[in-house]
Order: sequence, then C-alpha cells, then structure tokens
Amino acid sequence: TQLIKPRIREILSNILPPELVDLLPKHWVQLGDVLILPLREELLPYKEEIAKVYAEILGVKTVLRKGKIGGEFRETNYEIIYGNDPITIHKENGILYKFDASKVMFSPANVKERVRMARVAKPNELVVDMFAGIGHLSIPIAKHCGARVIAIEKSPYTFKFLVENIELNKVQERMTAYNIDNREFKGENMANRILMGYVVKTHEFIPKALEIAKDEAIIHYHNTVPEKLMPEEPFKTFQETAREYNYEAELLESRIIKRYAPGVWHIVLDVRVFKK
Ligand code: SAM
Repeated sequence: TQLIKPRIREILSNILPPELVDLLPKHWVQLGDVLILPLREELLPYKEEIAKVYAEILGVKTVLRKGKIGGEFRETNYEIIYGNDPITIHKENGILYKFDASKVMFSPANVKERVRMARVAKPNELVVDMFAGIGHLSIPIAKHCGARVIAIEKSPYTFKFLVENIELNKVQERMTAYNIDNREFKGENMANRILMGYVVKTHEFIPKALEIAKDEAIIHYHNTVPEKLMPEEPFKTFQETAREYNYEAELLESRIIKRYAPGVWHIVLDVRVFKK
C-alpha cells in the first residue's frame, strides 16, 4: 500500500486540474471486491475517471461513493461510481459476510466488537440478536462460540443476506432467523444473552429485551450518547428502565465503539440483568 497512493496520484494528475489532486482520498474501505471511496464535492465532476483508476490499481470490481447511513434500517444508499455489482463477499475473522455494500451497512469501525463476540458466549447458551443485520455479530457467536442463536432482522432486503450468510458459514443447525420487527417476536424468558446492536433509539427496546431475557441474562446494549452525558449515561437509563420492569441491572463493562458524530459516541455496555 506504500506505493499505491503515489501511483494513483501520478495517473490522476494527468487527468485532473492540479488544485484537485491534493483532494484525492487518502483513505478508503475495501469490503471483498468492492471499494468505498469518500469523495469531496469538488471531485464529483471527475468521479468516474477517479473511480476507474482506484478500481484498476486496487483490483476491485465496483466502486461506491461513501455517503451517509440513515433510517430505521440503517441503509447506506451509496452511489455506484464504477462497475455495476455492489454485492460482495467480505471475509473477516474466519467468517464470510455476503451483502450489498451499496445498501447494507458494514462498519469497519465495529470490527473489534465482531471479533469480541466470537469469544463471548458459551456453547450451552441461547443468544437472541434483536438487530441482526446480515449476521454481523451473531454469526461469529454461532460459528466460533458454538452457541444457539436466534437472529431477528426487520428489513426484507437485509434479511435475504442474513439467510445466505447462515448457509455460507454452515451454521444452519445453530441459527434461526426471523424477518420481523423484534417487538413482534414471541419468545419470553428464554435468552441467556441478548444483542442490541442498534443506535440512536436502542433504549426504546429495553422492555422487549427484558421480556426475552431469562431471570438472569447478559445484555450487550449499544447506543449513541452525547459526550456531555458520559459516563453516567447510558447505563442510568438502562437501569431505570430495568427497575420499572422488575429487573436489577449491573454494569459489567463499557466500551467505546466509535465516534458517531461530533461530540457523540457509539458505545456498548455489557449489562447483567436479574429478576428482583
Ligand atoms: N447488529 C449489527 C451490528 O452491530 O453490526 C447490525 C447493525 S444495523 C445498524 C441494525 C439492524 O437492525 C439493521 O439491519 C436494521 O434493519 C435492523 N432493525 C432496525 N429496527 C429493527 C427492529 N425493530 N426489529 C428488527 N430489526 C431491526
């Protein structure tokens, strides 16, 4: 990679006006054979030429322009600027993740959490993933911990990839997937461990998580939190809600996943809950 940036720059300096050459992206994300490139506004008139050079030098089939992630399904809606096939298979930690990188989020910054999940559960546990996505966090649990997993994903498009990934990783015997809103899930008092890999509104789902939890369980509670409310939040909200529903909550560990926005952090709490 030492030589890649000067090479790209050299080729593109023959195409771009000189003042734009310094604006070329120096960082990018490669997921399987798809590249996600952050491109500044000034470069947009040349987006196709730029994408072609990055694709050829890095050997990828498709290039997407990085944009914002949003909405209930956390969709990316990244524009295709080179090639025509945004579906990729990305390998990480011995797991194959197949997905449409132009629509479905796969955050490189969450890699530590995906790897951590591969060691967190015991084989005799039942784990419920309330926001499964393509199996980002739950396939590592089924594959590497050998635990049984119920994965719930509301978006029909993302769900298709979840089902494919369960097969690709040969964990069909341990994993069951539901294409529903997790608030419609019928299981009660069943899970030893619950994953809540969602942001912004995760607190709204705490009562449902407690309904799914056994009398004692571990909950991996993600949320976004303004820096000025840390460190009390978000555990305070979690604990207050748990108490309303007759559970006590004990904070085992808290970790920062990444910066979500200026002054806002995406964090994960490991919380032990138990019936009062
Ligand atoms: N948990 C994975 C991770 O942390 O990498 C995936 C995170 S992704 C941000 C959250 C997923 O939850 C999306 O695929 C979205 O469609 C799904 N989702 C959102 N609301 C949901 C709900 N009420 N029930 C089930 N799935 C939901």
